[in-house]
Amino acid sequence: MEDWFAEAKKIIPGGVNSPVRAFGSVGGTPRFIREASGSRITDEEGRSYIDYMASWGPMLLGHGHPAVVAAIREAAGRGTSYGAPTRLEVEMAQRIVEAFGSIDQVRMVSSGTEATMTAIRLARGFTGRDRIIKFTGCYHGHADSLLVKAGSGVATLGIPGSPGIPGPLAELTIALPYNDTAAFQEAIRRYGSEVACVIVEPVAGNMGVVPARPGFLETLRETTREAAILLIFDEVITGFRVSYGGWQQACGITPDLTCLGKIIGGGLPVGALGGRREIMERLAPTGPVYQAGTLSGNPLAMAAGIATLDILKGADYAALEETTETLCRGLLDQFKGKGIPVRINRVASMFTLFFTDGEVTDFETASRSDTKRFARFFQGMLAAGVYLAPAQFEAVFVSFAHTREDIARTLEACEKALRTL
Ligand SMILES: *Cc1c(COP(=O)(O)O)cnc(C)c1O
Repeated sequence: MEDWFAEAKKIIPGGVNSPVRAFGSVGGTPRFIREASGSRITDEEGRSYIDYMASWGPMLLGHGHPAVVAAIREAAGRGTSYGAPTRLEVEMAQRIVEAFGSIDQVRMVSSGTEATMTAIRLARGFTGRDRIIKFTGCYHGHADSLLVKAGSGVATLGIPGSPGIPGPLAELTIALPYNDTAAFQEAIRRYGSEVACVIVEPVAGNMGVVPARPGFLETLRETTREAAILLIFDEVITGFRVSYGGWQQACGITPDLTCLGKIIGGGLPVGALGGRREIMERLAPTGPVYQAGTLSGNPLAMAAGIATLDILKGADYAALEETTETLCRGLLDQFKGKGIPVRINRVASMFTLFFTDGEVTDFETASRSDTKRFARFFQGMLAAGVYLAPAQFEAVFVSFAHTREDIARTLEACEKALRTL
C-alpha cells in the first residue's frame, strides 16, 4: 500500500484523483482497492472490508451487481461510444421522468458537477438574473459559482471556496446557513429581484447528514415561487436513495429543476439535470443556453443506469431503512455504554455519526464535532475490517447488499474500535 501511494504521489497530485481519498483528515495511508463485490471491497494486499463508502453514494445495490455488470458487458460488446443519439438514452430519460413528477425533460451529463453547473447556467439564462443562493456546508460539485462555502472535501480541508475562483464571480453566490428560514427570507428581501436560483441539498449529505427542518424546504418553495426565482434540488445523493423518487417524493415539494448523479450511473460516470419543460427547452438546441458533452449519454453508463433503476424500482426501501436503523441503534448503544457523546443523524439508508453532544442542524453545529476522535474511530474500524468514508463530514451509506451478518460484524468492529478511543 505504502509503495503504491509513494509511486502515486510522484505522478498524481497528492496521489489521488479526488482529494478526500488521500486520508488527509484521518491520517495514514489510503487503501488501494483491487476489487469489490456486494458489500465488500478488497485492497491490494488482499484485506477485505465491509464497505459503507459505496463509492461516495452510487453503489446502492452493492458492488458488481450481476445484472448491472451483465448490462455493461452487453453494451460494451456493441461499442463504447458513438456521439449520436441512442435508444438507451431515451429509455434512461423515460425512467427518470417517470420517477420524478417534477421532471418533464432531462439532459444527461457525465458528472454531478456538470449537472449543477448546467442547472445554474440554465437558471441564469431563464431568469436573466446573475445571483444565486446556496447554503453553507452544501456541496454541489466543484463548478466556480458553487465552490463557495461548500461541504465535503472542502469542509474537511478547511478551504473557504478555493484559489482560482474569481472574486467577482464568487460575489454572485450568496451563502446562507442551512435550516435558517429567517436568514433566507432576509436575503430574499435584500436581493430577491437579482436572484436567479436557490440551490439546495434537500437532505444535506456533505457536511455529514443533516436533514432539512420541518418548514425549511416549504419556505424555500413558497418564497422562490413568489419572487420568480428557480428552486433547484440537488438530489445527486438522495435521488433514488431516500426513495425511488428522491427526497422530493418523500417530502412532497416540487422543485423547478433537479440535479441527479451517483446512483443513476450504477457506478459509471453520470449526471443528469431535469425539470419543467418551459425551462429545459431553453437548453440548446431548442433554446439559447449552451451545454454539450462528447461522452454525454454514454451507452455503457446508460446501460448500467437502466439496469440499476430497474432493480431499484422493485426494491424494498423500507427493509433497507430498517437495516440502517438497526445499525444506528447498535452504534448508539455502544457509545452510550462507553459514555462517549455522539449524535446520529439518519435519513433512510444514509447517516452520520457526529462526535458531538449537541444537535447537528447546520454547518456550524456539525463543525463542533471532534474530528480527531473521528479519525481514531475511523482507524479503529478500518483495522477491524469496516471501511467508512475517511472524514467526519460524510455519510455512511448502507446498501441493499448489506446483510444482517454484515451489520452484526460492523457492531463487533465498533466494540473493538471503541477500546482505542
Ligand atoms: C457528489 C455530489 C455532487 C457532485 O457530483 P460529481 O459526480 O462528484 O461531480 C453534487 N452534488 C451533491 C449533493 C453531491 O453529493
